[in-house]
Amino acid sequence: KALLALVFLLGIMTNTEHSNPFVTHNSVTHSTLGTMIFDGKLCFTNLEHAAKDFGNIYHLIPSAILYPKSVSDISSIIKGIFDMGLTSDLTVSARGRGHSLQGQAQTHQGVVINMMSLREPEMRFHVGKHETYVDVSAGELWINILHESLKRGLTPKSWTDYLHLTVGGTLSNAGISGQAFKHGPQINNVYQLNVVTGRGEVVTCSKEQNSDLFHAVLGGLGQFGVIAEARIALEPAPKMGKWIRALYTDFTQFTNDQEHLISSPGSFDYVEGFVIINRTGLLNNWRSSFNPRDPVQANTFTSEGKILYCLEVAKYFDPEEINHIDEEIDTLLSELNYIKSTLFQSEVSYIDFLDRVHMSEMKLREKGLWDVPHPWLNLLVPSSSINEFAKEVFGNIVKDTSNGPILIYPVNKSRWIKGTSLITPEEDVFYLVGFLSSAAPYSKGKDGLEHILLQNNKILNYCKKPRLGIKQYLPHYSTQQEWKSHFATHWDVFSRRKLIYDPLAILAPGQRIFQRLG
Ligand code: FAD
Repeated sequence: KALLALVFLLGIMTNTEHSNPFVTHNSVTHSTLGTMIFDGKLCFTNLEHAAKDFGNIYHLIPSAILYPKSVSDISSIIKGIFDMGLTSDLTVSARGRGHSLQGQAQTHQGVVINMMSLREPEMRFHVGKHETYVDVSAGELWINILHESLKRGLTPKSWTDYLHLTVGGTLSNAGISGQAFKHGPQINNVYQLNVVTGRGEVVTCSKEQNSDLFHAVLGGLGQFGVIAEARIALEPAPKMGKWIRALYTDFTQFTNDQEHLISSPGSFDYVEGFVIINRTGLLNNWRSSFNPRDPVQANTFTSEGKILYCLEVAKYFDPEEINHIDEEIDTLLSELNYIKSTLFQSEVSYIDFLDRVHMSEMKLREKGLWDVPHPWLNLLVPSSSINEFAKEVFGNIVKDTSNGPILIYPVNKSRWIKGTSLITPEEDVFYLVGFLSSAAPYSKGKDGLEHILLQNNKILNYCKKPRLGIKQYLPHYSTQQEWKSHFATHWDVFSRRKLIYDPLAILAPGQRIFQRLG
């Protein structure tokens, strides 16, 4: 009997060139996949890197990684698994840059599709009377799209703060940054998608064609299909940006000014902000890249231990054209109530401004501080709750911001496209509040993972009060019940779409929303 079993196992393991070294209940389905032919390749070894993400907290090892060269590779693997029906429980995770925070792009013993190896289509630019856009592979990094667009004097309109992320990865969430008040998030700036559904079908969709799938996939957390290709809206690119920071000690003045700026026509091109709690020497750090408008006054400023709120804005301009950029900025600033001695300004190229977080990445990498755990927490807080939220969270829960920045800025969703899967608060104006902590590996102190996660839980517990109307962004839950309350009245649509486009729940198991059938 033992000999027969051994022969059987060896049979499976030597069946294909890419035999699976793990012998699990999925061995038979794995060996079936191993016999499939791809333009790219399916690998059953060197899997560890797909069990890692930016969060560096969850580590689920897949049993295979597909490096697709064509959309049909993606379609074949998903269709192959779908056709196995309930006899298999294999799942599939598209992995963009893998910069998720809690294993969202991972799958335990399933198949990871490495989207960055998909190189088709080549970027194709179209300049039209009504629409100017670029067609890209969804595994493309936004930074590469920016570089190629700038060669043609063009640029995408809406960004994330960090550009070394894939198109498919950010469109599966939303892509919110300081330009979203003007252009909406990145999911607002896409004309068309090519999607491989959970049945393995390749579908072209847009607002006009297969619009239900189009809306489902945008902000859809990878649940309805793998985005293979996207058509991204472009506009003429500016060359330079004036990048400005100013401080407040009064939270209401700070948020009033932010909300004023996002509602004023002709305002800045970018509006964000952050909170500084119990940190000294910050203004000195800025001096390497920012100049105080009034150096003498800036030297006299002391925060006296108060919490500071920093407004961060930028206005783009082209130095080769006649412009009145300084006058325009002065007019905009004259309407604000920041502490006058704390105005700092810098002039940077458009690309350096957009790629600013990458500069910090390089510095942190040099010190070995980039690949640490990142217990980030992102919230969307309605404007009507932001004062109460700030009082409790910045006043009582978070004692300092030495573990990483806390972003805070408002957006207005009244012009955002409706019907996508993105869940936001009910009110038109809400704040993105991002606790972007880095944990010191192995530390048991205040900078350690345990402490930061505990603090995040305190914040989340406070946010549970229904009257606050707060939602998580880049959401993370462990139970379907929690997901149902996240989606609230949108759950029916979300789960109906799942049944249509991915009825066996093969896709994106790392989000922990649906259980694979099989
Ligand atoms: P991955 O982590 O690889 O995937 C994320 C999810 O999308 C997974 O569930 C995955 O299965 C799914 N997925 C990936 N590709 C596809 C595809 N082609 N089709 C279908 N599903 C897919 N977000 C903002 O909105 N604004 C910011 O300013 C911002 N700044 C950030 C800064 C940093 C330093 C980091 C690390 C993240 C930031 N994010 C921001 C969050 C970021 O947008 C998301 O984590 C995004 O998912 C990362 O893209 P990725 O390519 O790494 O996706």
